[in-house]
Amino acid sequence: MINRYGTRVELVCNECGGTSADEDQDDFEIMIEDAKRDGWVFFKQGRNWKHICPDCRE
Ligand SMILES: [Zn+2]
Repeated sequence: MINRYGTRVELVCNECGGTSADEDQDDFEIMIEDAKRDGWVFFKQGRNWKHICPDCRE
């Protein structure tokens, strides 16, 4: 899932609750690209997007 703090966004792992490293990132697209490069996995389950961190992806 995605947390928003004002203009800031961060990813939260749906498995462990861990957050993406770039929590200061305020550009959504850049944050997504960074997370993908770090190994995060995104997929849609029903209407909701799920976000899985590199540690839980195994
Ligand atoms: Zn996780």
